[in-house]
Amino acid sequence: MPLTLHVDSDRWRDHLRSTWNPDIVPVAKGNGYGFGNHRLIAESRALGARTVGVGTYFEVPADPREDVVVLTPWRPFLEMSHSKNVIHTVSRLADLVSIPAGSRVLIEVQTSMRRHGIGARELRHTMLLNALDRIRFEGWSLHFPMGAGGTSANVREAAQLAKAATDVRRGALWVSHVPAQKLGDIGENVKLRMGTALWLGDRGALTVRATVLDVHSVRRGERVGYRQRRVSGDGHILVVSGGTAHGVGLEAPTAAATVRQRAIAMAKGSLDAAGMALSPFTIEGKQRWFAEPPHMQASMLFLPSAVAPPAVGDTIGVDVRFTTTSFDKVSMD
Ligand SMILES: *Cc1c(COP(=O)(O)O)cnc(C)c1O
Repeated sequence: MPLTLHVDSDRWRDHLRSTWNPDIVPVAKGNGYGFGNHRLIAESRALGARTVGVGTYFEVPADPREDVVVLTPWRPFLEMSHSKNVIHTVSRLADLVSIPAGSRVLIEVQTSMRRHGIGARELRHTMLLNALDRIRFEGWSLHFPMGAGGTSANVREAAQLAKAATDVRRGALWVSHVPAQKLGDIGENVKLRMGTALWLGDRGALTVRATVLDVHSVRRGERVGYRQRRVSGDGHILVVSGGTAHGVGLEAPTAAATVRQRAIAMAKGSLDAAGMALSPFTIEGKQRWFAEPPHMQASMLFLPSAVAPPAVGDTIGVDVRFTTTSFDKVSMD
């Protein structure tokens, strides 16, 4: 009785093939963007990718066949993989000195992201210059912010940093969050790491369905659930697959950037304060209310009597964030 991600596999793979080219390094990390990392690595291989990116050392496959770039920078206290296929990201001068000699290394340069990276002013530091002879230098890594107006600014910034870096040592430039058509504006031998736009770039190929596990009719004022809340009207309680263990109801913080978005967040907040929360489950095209906070593997919804309830075993739609949801099943339809 699963929470299932249905993939229209022809449509999805059409999108993968039309998006991917040999300059693109597919990224398979976290929950595998909903698909699972194992599947994404297999799909990357089918596309012809020689290199994939993963988030952490824990995500490096046991015996990788392709090159694997670890996006989280190496630190002396992190357990490292000793596979010859692993390419490390190093983002501090001190780490360049302590990473084992001969390691395959991308040197990360700090961008306006200010997440990780060696500052542009430190690129000619003797610690870096000396390290270049100890390590197996694989190139420079640049990670940019996303979103509004960011892309053309990213390309400009990337071109500047790329020049500063390749003046120190020629090498490939590994960038993120730059439009694929603009790689030529940054420099030569530019590789683009891509996750979301590749795997989730055609949402129309993806559908999420939850299964109705139980249906109970209720009258206004009757108590339901762990918390024995009173229902707000006559109708039905639906028990559906998908709970906190799947990530349902555990929304990642959103960047409520605009006034409108903030207003929506406030409106939702006040409903929350009134003890009600809109669920991601949809019936007849409308999001339905949680009867109470989601349980581990299931959620209880309230459906007013005006709407005919689905039957046990039917499926209903769910609008979830793919990067924070663990599906029970991924069905390649
Ligand atoms: C996660 C990550 C990516 C992929 O990000 P998407 O937005 O999913 O394409 C690229 N580069 C770095 C350094 C990352 O950490």
